[in-house]
Amino acid sequence: MPIALQKEAASFDSLYPLEKASPRLARLKAYLEPMPREKLRRLAIAAQELTVRHFGRTMRLFAPLYLSNECVNICQYCGFSRTNRLERITLSPEEVEKEARYLTKQGFRHLLLVSGEHPKKVSVEYLIECVERLRPFVPEISLEVAPLDTCDYARLVQAGLDGMVIYQETYDPESYACWHVAGPKRDFLYRLLAPVRAYEAGIRRIGIGALFGLTPWQEEALRLGRHLDALLRQCWKAFLTVSFPRIRPSAGNFVAPFPLADRDLIQLVIAFRLSFPQVGLVLSTRETPALRDALAPVGITMMSAGSRTDPGGYTGAGLRTVPIRPAPTAPAKRETREQFAIADDRSPEEVAARLQELGYDPVWKDWERCTS
Ligand code: SF4
Repeated sequence: MPIALQKEAASFDSLYPLEKASPRLARLKAYLEPMPREKLRRLAIAAQELTVRHFGRTMRLFAPLYLSNECVNICQYCGFSRTNRLERITLSPEEVEKEARYLTKQGFRHLLLVSGEHPKKVSVEYLIECVERLRPFVPEISLEVAPLDTCDYARLVQAGLDGMVIYQETYDPESYACWHVAGPKRDFLYRLLAPVRAYEAGIRRIGIGALFGLTPWQEEALRLGRHLDALLRQCWKAFLTVSFPRIRPSAGNFVAPFPLADRDLIQLVIAFRLSFPQVGLVLSTRETPALRDALAPVGITMMSAGSRTDPGGYTGAGLRTVPIRPAPTAPAKRETREQFAIADDRSPEEVAARLQELGYDPVWKDWERCTS
């Protein structure tokens, strides 16, 4: 039976049993142990060499394009959570095209369409319309939206979709139930099996990740590694990527119960690079310029740049309200539509220039797609 249908009476442990994990997982565990600075420095050098051997001195750049901040779920850590007060908007396909044309003028050839989870406002038909509209001028399109059925992923592939990204947020079922208070996202297993459904539908670029800060980081990293290890076997024709987003300030003012320190994030990236040499590692503008510059050489292969996390954030598309000028003495209060605040607000050109200073070629388009 295809694993995507094995949901009944399943759990993370039964779907991805520890005893079936490859030796990669034991290596990952060892690299995640506390270690002295000097050992971490030596591992960083090894990680850098391995990255160059597998990916060259290149960095693929992409931009997120937010379609909608409307969401039916209550996720305690997210700015788009249903109970947060913010201006809600779903861009029309015309407005999505306007944003995409702006980004392609900036140089981007790979766009990640991102959205809150709202089955009516962000329906499969709407997503297909957006993909079809962008397809003629955007060479690579990925989606980071609600998990879908296999048949819906197949329709999106037919429309021109290349990749999908879905973060499990936390692989600990108890913690998952605690942070996801209401809405369809409470279905842990439907989300967990989305990458396999996407693969069965023909998607060949699949990204997974965990939101670090919800649980102790080493335990979360090991569960993420277990999922990745299994996907490398189940989805062997796909190119897999992993992300390590950390919780950022957002509407709702959620405070991470287990914050991931900068040094631990660096160790996490090194550990995944050394354990999974062929997997792409992704870094977003959640991190500061200094930390992104430091992480780029030790294993990151793909990063976003110049990002906005609100629908219409690049061009003002869909802006419905006129900002009210604050009284001179009142603190400026901005009506937000953002999912979270970014930490690297450099322009795409500035990020590309910095990468070149560090000895990396910024790549705006993934040429693998043209040759595969
Ligand atoms: S994390 Fe996703 S599903 Fe949850 S509130 Fe935010 S946008 Fe909605």
